[in-house]
Amino acid sequence: MVRQSDDVIVDGAGPAGVTLAYELAKRGIRVLLLEKEKLPRHKCCAGGITRKAVKLLDFDISEVVEDVVYEISITSDLRSPYLRQHGQPLIYTVMRDVFDHFLVKKAQQRGAVLIDGQNVRRIQMSGDWVEVSTADNTLRSRLVAGADGTYSVVARELGMGRSIEYGAAIGSEIVVPEDELARWKSRAQMELVCIPGGYAWVFPKRNHLSIGVGCLASRAKHLNRLHQEFLNSLGTSDYSISRFSSHLIPTCTKGRLVWQDKALLLGDAARLADPLTGEGIHNSILSAQLAVPVIENSLVHANAKLEDYQEAVEEKIMSELRIARVLSKFFIRFPHLAFGMLNRSDATWRAGCALMSGELKYADIKGKAGRFKGIVNRLFRT
Ligand SMILES: Cc1cc2nc3c(=O)[nH]c(=O)nc-3n(C[C@H](O)[C@H](O)[C@H](O)COP(=O)(O)OP(=O)(O)OC[C@H]3O[C@@H](n4cnc5c(N)ncnc54)[C@H](O)[C@@H]3O)c2cc1C
Repeated sequence: MVRQSDDVIVDGAGPAGVTLAYELAKRGIRVLLLEKEKLPRHKCCAGGITRKAVKLLDFDISEVVEDVVYEISITSDLRSPYLRQHGQPLIYTVMRDVFDHFLVKKAQQRGAVLIDGQNVRRIQMSGDWVEVSTADNTLRSRLVAGADGTYSVVARELGMGRSIEYGAAIGSEIVVPEDELARWKSRAQMELVCIPGGYAWVFPKRNHLSIGVGCLASRAKHLNRLHQEFLNSLGTSDYSISRFSSHLIPTCTKGRLVWQDKALLLGDAARLADPLTGEGIHNSILSAQLAVPVIENSLVHANAKLEDYQEAVEEKIMSELRIARVLSKFFIRFPHLAFGMLNRSDATWRAGCALMSGELKYADIKGKAGRFKGIVNRLFRT
C-alpha cells in the first residue's frame, strides 16, 4: 500500500477533471489526477466543442482541432435540407482521445501529477483527510473532486449517484471516400425530426465523419435502427464503420447536490450536460473553473465552505439547464415547429449561433425570439 498526501485528488481525466487539475496546479496547489484508463483513451463522443466552450480555455487548441464548422445543414425527417451559415466558427471538432490527452499534458506542464490505469473504487472520509482507494493504492488528500463521468464512483460512494434524467446516444466514426469527405468540410448536419425525443448529427473530422443519434434514455429502444436509417439517408454508399459505441448523458434536475463533506462533483459526475443539445464539455470545463476559487479558499481558510460551489453551480449552470430543459420539452413535443423556427426565422438561427458562441445565454432567449416571441413567452410562463 502506498500513501501519499496531496491537497486535492481529482478522479477522472476528462475535460472536467483535467481543467480542475490545470487550474489548481497553476495556483501552486498540489493536485493528483487519477484516471482509470491508460491514456490516451477513447471516449464515446461526437467531439464537437462549441465556441463558447473554447472561449473558457486560456490556451490555444488549434493543434488538436480536426475541422471548424461554419455551416449547418438542418433537416426534417431526413428531407428538406436547409443550409444555414455563420460568419464565425460555431463548433470545433476534435477526437476526444487526442483532445483530452492534450489537456492532460497542459495540466502536467503546470505541475499536476497524473497516475493513469488507476480505477478508483472507494472514497472514505477520515478526520481531516479523504482516503481514495484504487486496486493498488490508498491515497490521501484534503479534498477530492469526482470528475469521473456518468457512472461516477465518487458520487456513488457519497450516496449522490442517482440521476433522474439521462440522454442516451450512439456515436460512430464513418470512413468515406475522400471526395465525399471533402463535401462535408466545415459543415455539420442536424436532423431534428426523425429521432423521437432527440436528434441526429454529422460532424466533420479530418479522416472520417462522426455520425450519431441521441434522445431521452426512456425513448432509446430503437436507437440502433434509427442510427442505421440516418446513415443510409446520407447517400453515402461506399463507407465503413471504424468505431461504434454508445453511452448515457446525465442531466440534473432542480436542487441537485454537487458537494458533500470534503468532496465535490464536476461535469457529467455532477449531471451537468445540457438536456436540449447533449453538450457536456462546456459545463464540465465551467464547473471545474467554478470549483477553483472555492477549493483555494477552503485550503487556505479552514472555515471556507464547499457549499459556495453549490451556489456558483446553481447560479451559472443549473439556472441555464432549467431553461434548456423547458426548450427541450418543447422541441421533443413539436419537432416540426422547432425545425420551422430554425430554418425560416433568421432571428432564431442567429439566437442559436449566439448560444453556441457564448454571446447569448438561455436566459436571454426571450428577448431574441423574433416573430416566435409569443410561443417562447408562453413556454416560460408554464
Ligand atoms: C455519443 C455522445 C456524443 C457526445 N457529443 C458531445 C459533443 O459533441 N459535444 C459535447 O460538448 N459533449 C458531447 N457529449 C457529452 C460529453 O461527452 C460529456 O458530457 C463529457 O465528456 C463530460 O466530461 P467529463 O470530464 O465530465 O467526463 P468524461 O469525459 O466522461 O471523463 C471522465 C473520466 O473519468 C474516468 N473514470 C471513470 N471512472 C473512473 C474511476 N472509477 N476511477 C478513475 N477514473 C475514472 C473515465 O475513464 C474518463 O476518462 C456526447 C456524449 C455522447 C455519449
